[in-house]
Amino acid sequence: MRAKTRLIHGGIMGDPHTGAVSVPIYQTSTYKQDGVGQHRGYEYSRTGNPTRSALEQMMAEIEGGTAGFAFSSGLAAITTVLSLFSQGDHLIFTDDVYGGTYRLVHQVLNRFGIETTFVDTSSIEETEKAIQANTRGIYVETPTNPLLKVTDLQKTAALAEAHSLLFIVDNTFLTPYWQLPLEKGAHIVLHSATKYLGGHSDVVAGIVVVKTPELADKIHFLQNAMGGVLGPQDAWLLLRGSKTLGLRMEEHEKNAQIIAHFLSQHPQIERVYYPGLPSHPHHSLASQQAKGFGGMISFAVKSEKKALELIDSLRYFTLAESLGAVESLISLPARMTHASIPEERRNLLGITPGLIRISVGIEDAEDLIEDLEQGLATL
Ligand SMILES: *Cc1c(COP(=O)(O)O)cnc(C)c1O
Repeated sequence: MRAKTRLIHGGIMGDPHTGAVSVPIYQTSTYKQDGVGQHRGYEYSRTGNPTRSALEQMMAEIEGGTAGFAFSSGLAAITTVLSLFSQGDHLIFTDDVYGGTYRLVHQVLNRFGIETTFVDTSSIEETEKAIQANTRGIYVETPTNPLLKVTDLQKTAALAEAHSLLFIVDNTFLTPYWQLPLEKGAHIVLHSATKYLGGHSDVVAGIVVVKTPELADKIHFLQNAMGGVLGPQDAWLLLRGSKTLGLRMEEHEKNAQIIAHFLSQHPQIERVYYPGLPSHPHHSLASQQAKGFGGMISFAVKSEKKALELIDSLRYFTLAESLGAVESLISLPARMTHASIPEERRNLLGITPGLIRISVGIEDAEDLIEDLEQGLATL
């Protein structure tokens, strides 16, 4: 089965009892038992729900894992996965991970005695240098947000293997349509399904897919024990969104390529960050390990003032956090998604006051270009 076919025919199709083509929304918290201890596969909806199961099976299939798990948000998924670790364990993280992940480990997990080091994982040497006697895992986001740095998945997997570390990848930006971390040696893939997997800015959700049955048992235990599960309505919305994932990712990519080229030639733009541009420092690695470059672009104008003027003048780029949906979004990382990171650290990472991030939607590319053209002309 090829990727787009799998999104339609993978997982569970419809309902065997009625012939309904769409998986029903099982809006139920509990299930009648035929006798004490005799149930039909479902006991209680925190432990399992048929709509959520259909989604979880689909996600496992498209990521190429043994089992999938759906959570009430990306951060609930991340919290659950990081609960595999214990007091005294040390973890290595990509330095410009999602701000909420940074906050979780720095303001919550640290209180439980989990130690962390943040490094530029796009350098395998930096990652290796960070390994300590108590290191138990490597957590990578690639490409990163907002600077689109790329980490070599195969090399990182080999390093994890050599040191018996759990290798976790946040695959939110590329989705399994473009990138399959489990195939490259990762043990766990996770998502903010709020973004591309859902794709329509109408659901907050998280997904975890694991490679081995042992990890599946552990994550299922934690999912049930910690309880951050996705409700059946939202599971259904994600199933619905995932059917068009392939179509959407192709369009995001096409538009992003056009816009990245346009921006890279515009005199008002100081720098463009997009792995699909041959000038991007990780372009060749990005081309090797993924089938596409995604729809996220960052670019720098000279000052925050110019950035604010541009954002103000655009018609089709909605000012909002989040990403990965059908409509184009624009944000100012230093003042929005990355505001919780201290200014000094932001500048160190390259998140300057004039850095703008866009999530390219699936509108007509001509309209998006005309909009950017008129906006940049006013600066
Ligand atoms: C949004 C996001 C998250 C957090 O997911 P929520 O669904 O908002 O909880 C994690 N990782 C990345 C890369 C994200 O973009």
